Amino acid sequence: MKAVIVGGGIIGLCSAYYLQKSGWQVTVVERDDLTDNCSFGNAGYIVPSHITPLASPGIIAKGFKWMFNSKSPFYIKPALSMQLINWGILFIRHANQKNVDHGAPYLRDLSLLGSHLYDELANQPGFDFALEHKGIMVYYKTEKAAEEEAHLATTARSLGLDADVLSKEQVQFLEPGTELDILGAVHYHCDAHLYPVKLMEQLMQSIMQNGGVIKTQSAVTGMDISNGIINKIHTEKESFQADLFVVSGGSWLPDLCKMAGIHIPLMPGKGYSITKKNPEKKLNIPAILCEARVAITPMNGYMRYGGTMEIAAVNKEININRVRGIVESVTKYIPGIKLELPEKKDIWYGFRPCSADGLPYIGFSKKIKNMIIAGGHSMMGLGLGTSTGMVVADLANGHTPSVKIDAFDPERFS
Ligand SMILES: Cc1cc2nc3c(=O)[nH]c(=O)nc-3n(C[C@H](O)[C@H](O)[C@H](O)COP(=O)(O)OP(=O)(O)OC[C@H]3O[C@@H](n4cnc5c(N)ncnc54)[C@H](O)[C@@H]3O)c2cc1C
Repeated sequence: MKAVIVGGGIIGLCSAYYLQKSGWQVTVVERDDLTDNCSFGNAGYIVPSHITPLASPGIIAKGFKWMFNSKSPFYIKPALSMQLINWGILFIRHANQKNVDHGAPYLRDLSLLGSHLYDELANQPGFDFALEHKGIMVYYKTEKAAEEEAHLATTARSLGLDADVLSKEQVQFLEPGTELDILGAVHYHCDAHLYPVKLMEQLMQSIMQNGGVIKTQSAVTGMDISNGIINKIHTEKESFQADLFVVSGGSWLPDLCKMAGIHIPLMPGKGYSITKKNPEKKLNIPAILCEARVAITPMNGYMRYGGTMEIAAVNKEININRVRGIVESVTKYIPGIKLELPEKKDIWYGFRPCSADGLPYIGFSKKIKNMIIAGGHSMMGLGLGTSTGMVVADLANGHTPSVKIDAFDPERFS
């Protein structure tokens, strides 16, 4: 049986990997050269602790407040775009506690499965992607954030996740080499991290070594559909036939699904990261700077600093003020680390595929019988990569996935 996977980010590559493992002949069709996409420059977190979807209480008020701050970590760029307006209406409608309570158990289970599968993958020949289980810290500086984070830690514990609230002294004990200026932190022991670049390269190698094909510089431009079945997809150079088509185009998922007449509300959420080689000062344990929304990861000898969520159409502009916001906040929490504002060429950016309710879109299309949609993982796509790939393979093979996926129905807004 043949499967064509459109888009070679972490979701597409993991789908190809698990489909291939279960006997499918796979071809990944990718528009770019697969040396970069959102799945390469991210913070590398596997975060079962992230049970709160982006659409959550308080996010709209924060978004309005932050709209007027050029260094803010969250920003929705106003535009007369139907994609943004449709997404925005749904996003506002879902930014409430009911959506969080509904989504959290689904995200937790997909994430725990993802973490377990990363452990298995790290033990396979040809895989060594610097996976570490040190947990993740959430540092905070203010009483208000301390209260909110303690509440989130209690919720996480009630869902069976391992989290400790630590004083500044307790955190400093775990980070003896780096002076911290924080009030305290929550340590999520259930979380892990890895080096995404190695993971992506090793997935590609494994797929090709096992007979899979990866076609780069091949943008999908159209689909031949009849009687609710995709017969072929087209690129400018060639066409591909298959029994199954997995559409995993990241922030371009709406464009690809539109070719099949399916509406997927999704907006790109641009983020930046800076990676320092052989840094003088390193953290032992990855840390999220809570109020600044910055993620810091010691990974494979590097230190990576990432943040900012700019909801806007895909664009190549680097908003240097937002990068400055990341750089300045690091020193505020960790005075021992002095980051310089990098040159534009050293700033990485990627587009998180943000669904309207903060839950991914995973499942067979009801309209097109041989099409699986997999995307919209927002800030969690790396951590949810393996489990999404496994769910895709289960569905393709007619098996019931080991986690519940009804909340992820890709056509829930159609
Ligand atoms: C700063 C930052 C930090 C992050 N940190 C984390 C983290 O710590 N943990 C975590 O879990 N997540 C994190 N994320 C989010 C994570 O990176 C994304 O959720 C994930 O990479 C999305 O993967 P994807 O495969 O859906 O999309 P992508 O990686 O964007 O891949 C989609 C691919 O589809 C291709 N494509 C698009 N259109 C076409 C077409 N027409 N034809 C062929 N190919 C096409 C694109 O070229 C691209 O290669 C972070 C993101 C950012 C920006």
